[in-house]
Amino acid sequence: MTGFRALPSVDQLLQSDIGHALIEEHGRTAVTTAARARLDAARVAIRDGACGDDQAARLPDLLAADLAQAARSTLRPMLNLSGTVLHTNLGRAILAPEAIEAARTAMAAPLALEFDLDGGGRGQRDDHLRGLLRELTGAEDATIVNNNAAAVLIALNTFGQGREGIVSRGELIEIGGAFRMPDIMARAGTRLVEVGTTNRTHPRDYESAITADTGVIMKVHTSNYRIQGFTSEVPAPQLAGIARAAGIPLLNDLGAGSLVDLSAYGLRREPTVAEAVAEGADLVTFSGDKLLGGPQAGFIVGRRDLIAQINKNPLKRALRLDKIRIAALQATLHLYRDPDRLPTRLPTLRDLSRPYDQIAAQAARLAPKIAALLEPLGYAARPCDCDSQIGSGALPVDTIPSAGLRLTGQGGDAPDRLSAHLRALPCPVIGHIRDGGLILDLRCLDDDDALLDAMAAL
Ligand SMILES: *Cc1c(COP(=O)(O)O)cnc(C)c1O
Repeated sequence: MTGFRALPSVDQLLQSDIGHALIEEHGRTAVTTAARARLDAARVAIRDGACGDDQAARLPDLLAADLAQAARSTLRPMLNLSGTVLHTNLGRAILAPEAIEAARTAMAAPLALEFDLDGGGRGQRDDHLRGLLRELTGAEDATIVNNNAAAVLIALNTFGQGREGIVSRGELIEIGGAFRMPDIMARAGTRLVEVGTTNRTHPRDYESAITADTGVIMKVHTSNYRIQGFTSEVPAPQLAGIARAAGIPLLNDLGAGSLVDLSAYGLRREPTVAEAVAEGADLVTFSGDKLLGGPQAGFIVGRRDLIAQINKNPLKRALRLDKIRIAALQATLHLYRDPDRLPTRLPTLRDLSRPYDQIAAQAARLAPKIAALLEPLGYAARPCDCDSQIGSGALPVDTIPSAGLRLTGQGGDAPDRLSAHLRALPCPVIGHIRDGGLILDLRCLDDDDALLDAMAAL
């Protein structure tokens, strides 16, 4: 039993062979910091009765592990087998290869972001997307901001600051906690005027709420819930008529906002952006990284005069997009010019439109291999049916038939334990727990080997 004297000094540790190797890999500063921390921890352990020689012997391995752990990205890739395709906590849409390439190019070289290559003068960054957005939505004009929450904020602030904004009580949504329509309205400086009831709102409710102070009328897509039963809402074309008669802009917040009719790909219809525009909304807002399948962004499309007013709002400068995302969006929107090939080129649509039979065959193929990997650890794996969700506020109560693996083990806490193991993998695997098993929905797994490789590290 030896004491503190068994421990090397920081200098001795750095001068050792392992010290040199670690400095080569991680740099002197990082190794010195990690060595100090490890030596401090060893001294505490010895003071509490641990053997000095043991502590000294373990130092190199622990130091190497600390440094490897610190160098590992907290944003490393993982497998989303949660069954939620557009998972906000997992970064929503996976970008198309074309979008990734465009983003890479934009990061690596100067480009004409706000530069008119013909005249050599100043250009506008939104010009790179405006034409495509007009073409794909039928709107007169478009402006682009950081995300859809920002799109709603700047639109409300532009037309409703110091004035009133009318919204149906059935549409006062909360999305993911921090986005609550009444709070966003308050921040935009717009006084919320609620009309109708939770389940029913009529044309006369809007009409009688309009005053000389009304700045904007809002329609909000109820993205993450559905009101069923004795319900009534004012159809968008009729609401547009009411707004137009009063000379007040109608803002339709679509949320997910698909650019294509999803029923063409075997999913249920969601209102498209083009339809919302055609139905007479003066402005339509939607996200870049939900059904659209691009990077995080918020779009506002609609009347040219209103878009011009939004662009003059000083908030636009605070909420604008960077070149990387503009490049990725341009490449993503380009894919929409060829809707027939969209499901093979856009990962979001590819995952959402994968047929059940294909996923079930994949589950049958993978089950014995995954079972063989898990058996020594005391877990079993079987193919199962499950239900995927689109996620991120699209078709909230609809599910898509899917297939996957059901992992089980001894004891009531087996799914939780297994789930923790899978999260701790170098390539984490995320499933969801249901009825005493951990379900890995294979809808978003386009490569069998990716899962086998990840699980091999168990
Ligand atoms: C998702 C959503 C938002 C917020 O969009 P982000 O892109 O997450 O900022 C706003 N309104 C509706 C209706 C939504 O569905």
